[in-house]
Amino acid sequence: MLEIHPKVGEVLRTLEENGHRAYAVGGCVRDIMMERHPTDWDVTTDARPERIQELFPDNFYDNAFGTVTVKTRDDDPIVRTIQITPFRIEGRYTDQRHPDEVTFAKTIEEDLSRRDFTVNAMAMSADGTLVDPYGGRDDLSAKIIRAVGDADTRITEDALRMMRAVRFATTLDFSIHDDTLRALTRHAALLERISAERIRDELTKILNAPRAMHGIQLLEDTGLLRFILPELREGVGVEQNLHHIYTVWEHNLRTMHYAAQKGYSFPVRMACLLHDVGKPRTKRGEGRHCTFYAHDAVGATMARKIMERLKYPGETVDAVVRLVRYHMFYYSVGEVTESSVRRLIANVGLEHIDDLLRLREGDRIGSGTPKAVPYKLRHLKYMIDKVSHDPISVKMLKVNGQDIMEVLGIPPGPKIGLILNTLLAEALDDPTINTRELLLKRAGELDAASAADLKSALERIEQARDSEEKERMKKYYV
Ligand code: ATP
Ligand code: MG
Repeated sequence: MLEIHPKVGEVLRTLEENGHRAYAVGGCVRDIMMERHPTDWDVTTDARPERIQELFPDNFYDNAFGTVTVKTRDDDPIVRTIQITPFRIEGRYTDQRHPDEVTFAKTIEEDLSRRDFTVNAMAMSADGTLVDPYGGRDDLSAKIIRAVGDADTRITEDALRMMRAVRFATTLDFSIHDDTLRALTRHAALLERISAERIRDELTKILNAPRAMHGIQLLEDTGLLRFILPELREGVGVEQNLHHIYTVWEHNLRTMHYAAQKGYSFPVRMACLLHDVGKPRTKRGEGRHCTFYAHDAVGATMARKIMERLKYPGETVDAVVRLVRYHMFYYSVGEVTESSVRRLIANVGLEHIDDLLRLREGDRIGSGTPKAVPYKLRHLKYMIDKVSHDPISVKMLKVNGQDIMEVLGIPPGPKIGLILNTLLAEALDDPTINTRELLLKRAGELDAASAADLKSALERIEQARDSEEKERMKKYYV
């Protein structure tokens, strides 16, 4: 087991030495018992807010929960601030969202009783003594998420706990205890009262976990998904054509699973999950030859609605919509021209192309095909690289023909081209000479050279172009 962070130990001891009880509590205790590094440290104590402020003068105070945030100014950012909250007990919940009142409690046990799950309801004092009245340690080793006390009561008090149960099961790789799972299934509809922002934050954590697919399946099995991503459920049981062995639902999930396994960014995962969300509404015909024309455009519109409803930031919305919109880009080696690749880059944006290819890889793997990056996709990557890099040409030089004519005082003619080519050939050998000053100086010397000498430059440039192309082909294995 990891230990209490020394800075947190210091805070706990300060409280103890001043006659108070104090504990690290909640997620941080759970995390250290699992050998994970906590993302933040919470402290709870029988000292009241005024007293905490007195003992830690460098603080700010949030009246609503009685939480005093102490500024330690430690070097370690995790403990630069530590939240100290007096033992609390919550009153009745009439809205399944917020307790009607927050009251201070006398004992740590009372405080732990208001917490959501047994593994989150443990406290630890500075000397490492564990307070665990609900069997959190046992549930931790059995990998179980179990509500503290009566599951129905705890879930109806605060419906967000349903999302939290699924989130912890997903991120910690735990299962949900039967009673708690039943309560989730029974009360799923209460999720309607929870704000989109709080649902969004939990959904994001679920998707960012390696086991995201399991999490989404759990949301579906409990009936919660209906209140989060109802559009995604339209794909359940929708069979596809001869190119697919999975239903639309399963294919969307498997595509996202690939992205989660690969550790791809949140927008890519979300886009993978939603990439075929437009298929059920565009399906025409049945059996091996059914079609889904325009499902990418319809899906993009749906994805925008979904992402906006969940209050994702505009940038994230755009990223997901863009990927869904263009995921069907056509590519066939030999058939697709450089200009169509340029058009794809113009539509999607060069900086988003890699994400689009990641989605496409997931799309393939999620269809049950063995290879993520076949020759075709490698060839596209090669083409994108090629058209997005300037070709080797005299335009790369810091001087042009006009400069040469002016400085050397010679008229337009083939000689200008020969000199520029020679400068380029030399700059390819030694890029440091590509400055206006050095090039012009060198141009003066070349002016005296014979045309035959200058002609060898073209060959050298061709060689450079050739080897650049060979490198690129090697890189993409095409
Ligand atoms: P993480 O920070 O890793 O997401 P956490 O368990 O620390 O997980 P927080 O949201 O930071 O979760 O909350 C800290 C603690 O507060 C929890 O461990 C739990 O004891 C309690 N808690 C948080 N939200 C709720 C809730 N909705 N109902 C009951 N207790 C809660
Ligand atoms: Mg936390």
